[in-house]
This record gives sequence, structure tokens and C-alpha cells, in this order.
Amino acid sequence: IRVLGIETSCDETAASVVVLREGDAPEILSNVVLSQIEDHAAFGGVVPEIAARAHVEALDGIVEAALADAGVDLAAVDAVAATAGPGLVGGLIVGLMTAKAVASAAGKPLLAINHLEGHALTARLTDGLRFPYLLLLVSGGHTQIVLVRGVGDYQRWATTIDDALGEAFDKTAKMLGLPYPGGPNVEKTAKGGDPTRFAFPRPMKGSAQPDFSFAGLKTAVRQAASAAAPLSDRDVADICASFQAAVSDALADRVGRCLQRFRETFPDIGTPVLVIAGGVAANREIRASLEAQCREHGFRFIAPPHELCTDNAAMIAWAGIERLRAGLAGGDAFAFVPRSRWPLDEVSAPVVGSGR
Ligand code: ATP
Ligand code: MG
Ligand code: FE
Repeated sequence: IRVLGIETSCDETAASVVVLREGDAPEILSNVVLSQIEDHAAFGGVVPEIAARAHVEALDGIVEAALADAGVDLAAVDAVAATAGPGLVGGLIVGLMTAKAVASAAGKPLLAINHLEGHALTARLTDGLRFPYLLLLVSGGHTQIVLVRGVGDYQRWATTIDDALGEAFDKTAKMLGLPYPGGPNVEKTAKGGDPTRFAFPRPMKGSAQPDFSFAGLKTAVRQAASAAAPLSDRDVADICASFQAAVSDALADRVGRCLQRFRETFPDIGTPVLVIAGGVAANREIRASLEAQCREHGFRFIAPPHELCTDNAAMIAWAGIERLRAGLAGGDAFAFVPRSRWPLDEVSAPVVGSGR
């Protein structure tokens, strides 16, 4: 099965061709990603209108590049899969409408894919993972722990009650005058800092409720920053290091609870797996603390390569392959309207349409 994937839900314009040959491991034939970071940097965050326009300008060329890199033409593709939600609706419209046009011109089936399902299934593309496993998704828009039981079969065990973790990194960076995107800059700046200087809260730590929260931590950072103003480089580094320590600690606590719950739900699985996805997965300190947490609970920790953790179209093409293979094809993706909100536990309905 060979699928062309298209991803435009946020600030990456991406296209990819992935193939699954009988009895073989899947192969990413091409994976083209154009980041709009520079278009949005001046505004300190993603501007939806600018993102949508940038997708319009870039997508045709990106799709052509993905086909060329893969050395295939449209006739050799079995289906077209596009992100249909959740995300910024302008970008979703551009991607899904382009996919509809391409699929219908080539007479190929179309799959309307949930972006989160793409993240959830990536570890099966990279590591051939078997169900069930736990997914920690930490990006600019999402902070969730999801039980992945099968294709189209997901159960959200925890989510943030306020900010996403990547968002907390980005806002912290902004308060400290560090450039966008905040995550990588906070991590870099934290390197020289003292993680014990500021005793920031560990939101939800020890709570019986499984969810995440980062708004209180963000407020604590703001208060510390204004109390220490004017900020020296030393102060900024110490705040970053203390913030990161608080985040790692809180995250490990929240994840630990779900690892425990997984153990109780699936007592027969010898070495269960936790997979991480999303841009925040790049953070070394967070990874180290999650790895330690996994070791403690007897879990294997899998972090796919960074370019497959952040937004990309290979994961969308792969989700399309998984759906075709699982026979979750039916319904009419040509009639599918992009959904800015589309929780992962609502994807079980089949979303493929026949080429016409
Ligand atoms: P979505 O939730 O729709 O996937 P997104 O485009 O914001 O949205 P990603 O592209 O996966 O998600 O990730 C971007 C986020 O990851 C940003 O918030 C960024 O600050 C954060 N990030 C990137 N690198 C790091 C890092 N080293 N440490 C912490 N956060 C990071
Ligand atoms: Mg992004
Ligand atoms: Fe994403």
C-alpha cells in the first residue's frame, strides 16, 4: 500500500509518501516539511491567517516535491490521506481541499485523518510497536496521555485543564524576553542556570485526578520574573532551569500514575511501552526524567526521531495505511468537513471516500 499524506493543521506545510509492502517493514519514501516559524516569529506565536495563506502558497510545491523525492507519480499512489482536524481551520481547509482535488483528479480514495491519530500511530511506523501502549503527547497545542488500544481505538487518560506544555514553554520564553519558539530557547538558556534557586510549584503533583495543569506554574514564573527585575542573564538562566525542573517533576508524577494504571489494566504485558510525541519531546531534561520514571515502573520508553515527533505528513500517510489495512475504510471523506476540535476518542467512525 502506497499513500500520499498531507499535513497543514498548524504551522508546518508537509507532504510525504509512505509505503507498506507485504511482509515488510513500512518505509518512508519521502518526508517534506516546510516550517513557517520565521513567518510567525515576529508575532511571538502562530497567526492563523498568516498560516493559512502560507499553506496556500506552499502546498502545491510541497506535494510535488514529496512525489518527486519518492520517485513516484500520482498513478502509483493507492490513496491520499490528509489531516482533517484538529487544528487551525484555515490550514485544515487548504490541506483537505487540496487532497480532495488531487484524489479526485487521480481517481484515488481519500482519507480524512485525525492529526492526533497520526501522532498516536507513529511508533508503529518507526518501531513496529504492537498494541496496546501508552502515548504521551506534548506539543504546542496538546498535552495528553492516551491509551492506544488499536487503530481507531483510543482512550484519553489525562489532558491539560489549562495550557499545553509547549505553550507554557513559549509563554515563559516570552516573559523572559527569549525568542520564539520558546521551548528550544528555554532549554538552551536553562543549561547554565540553577534549578534550585526558584521553588516553582509542581502543578497537580500527588493529585488523584490524572490531569495536567500549567497555568499556575506560568503565573509563578511571571511573579518571580517581576520580583527579580531588572533581570540579569544569571536570573533568566536560573528561572529557565527552575521552570524546567518543575515541569519535569510534575510531568513525571502525572505519567507515573498512568503507568501504574496501565499495569493494573494489562497485568499480563511483561514490558509495556510508553511512547512520547510532540515538539516538547525534544527536551532532554524531560526525556531523562520520563526515562527514569519508565525504568522505575518497568516500562520501555520510546521516543521516535525528532522529525517524526513534531508535525509531519509521514505520520498522516501512515495513519492512512493503518486505516486501509484495518478495513476502517468507508463513509465519504469527500464530504468530510474539517474539524478544528476533534478529540481522539471520537475517531472510530471510518473516514474514507471512494475516488471519483
Ligand atoms: P500541535 O499540538 O497541533 O501538534 P504544534 O505545532 O505547536 O501543535 P509541535 O510542532 O509538535 O506542535 O511542537 C511545537 C512546540 O514544541 C512548541 O510549543 C515548542 O516551544 C515546543 N518545543 C520544541 N522544542 C522544545 C524543547 N527543546 N523543549 C521544550 N519545548 C520544545
Ligand atoms: Mg508546529
Ligand atoms: Fe502535532
